[in-house]
Amino acid sequence: MFRNLKLKLTLIYVMVVVIITLFFMAGIHMMMIRSMKAQSDEIMRLVARNAGLNAGNRGALQDSRWFDYFYVITGPSGNIIETSPNLPVSRNRLETLVGKALESGADKGRVKTSRRAEDIYMFLKTVPEQGSGHIVVFLDPEPQNFVSGRLVRAFTVTGLAGIVLTFFASYFMAGRALVPIKKSWERQKKFVADASHELRTPLAVIQTNLDIVRGSPEETVASQMQWLENIDTESRLMAKLVDDLLFLARADSQQELVSMDHFPLAPALDEVVKAFEPLAERRGIKLNYKKAPDISLYADRTRIKQLVSILLDNGLKYTPGGGEVTLEVKNPGHGAEIIVSDTGEGIAGEHHGKIFERFYRIDKARSREDGGAGLGLAIAGSIVKAHHGTIRVRSAAGEGSTFIVSLPGKN
Ligand code: ADP
Repeated sequence: MFRNLKLKLTLIYVMVVVIITLFFMAGIHMMMIRSMKAQSDEIMRLVARNAGLNAGNRGALQDSRWFDYFYVITGPSGNIIETSPNLPVSRNRLETLVGKALESGADKGRVKTSRRAEDIYMFLKTVPEQGSGHIVVFLDPEPQNFVSGRLVRAFTVTGLAGIVLTFFASYFMAGRALVPIKKSWERQKKFVADASHELRTPLAVIQTNLDIVRGSPEETVASQMQWLENIDTESRLMAKLVDDLLFLARADSQQELVSMDHFPLAPALDEVVKAFEPLAERRGIKLNYKKAPDISLYADRTRIKQLVSILLDNGLKYTPGGGEVTLEVKNPGHGAEIIVSDTGEGIAGEHHGKIFERFYRIDKARSREDGGAGLGLAIAGSIVKAHHGTIRVRSAAGEGSTFIVSLPGKN
């Protein structure tokens, strides 16, 4: 799929470059032809003015090696009275040329004595100031054709070489342009595969427990409670998973994740800590909260609470009974620094870069038992990013973990 796309992009680039180049080449060619035509007309006018005077302004004219001209002065009946000394044609052909020029209704144009290119002449017909008859100046367009032909040949050669070069350059550029798209495509594919896998597990558990219940229809609901509770737990897990997936999908589609407002941080975090106290007590973990009063944040209150909940939930999940989890808020001058630390199992250095990835779990089986799908820190990362803040981890295996969130003040 990407090979075809790369080729398509390359061809589009090449076509655009070819069209622009053709446009410029045609412009240059046209300008040059026009300027040579204007010069030819000017020369023919000058020759016509000086025809028969002998003196004339011939010096300037003879210098122009690009223009090959001669003139003829005719009587009223078209008979040739005088010609310039430099006649490049025979008397016969001259008479034909003059006859055709005089017959032509226009004052200037082209006449030919045969179909061959070298027998074509440009002409200018004027009436002399004294006397009757005509002055007809002929100019050989061959040098102009030669220059124009040269230009077209040069354009063709450089144009073809340019197309080949543009093709390779565009192929390279298209490859580079596709790298981020390819990466995001791969990430998306992996995300969908992981999500399906995660959803399949609770669905399978629900199915199995339903089969057990169905297998004993004579039993009472109370006696089947164990299986029903399993179904309840798994469906709640699934609902949370679906919520998390929707959140990340919204983050991916660049939808607005946060609705910003000013709010005091302390009461918001009080609510979060209160919600986690029963869980901490059940697990025998001491939950500390080091408040920093008077911090007012410009942020999304609900998302900040969600972020702290994820970090506290992880702290409580990965800290054994008897340990401690501490939430600390600091005021670094503007914005806020939220630090969640625990005395738990810690995270080895090699995992630090990966734990913020979607579905990444250090111990898959363990994490699943605790209800984790590996999305918590990915969501935390998205929330922090939406607030233009940063999140980092300081931890080592067996030495507890510290997550530090820095949120900027209002810009
Ligand atoms: P999960 O839902 O599995 O907890 P997270 O994205 O929140 O997913 O965390 C990813 C992984 O990082 C976890 O599976 C766990 O291995 C590790 N982790 C996160 N927080 C902590 C912590 N406080 N202590 C030890 N390990 C942690």
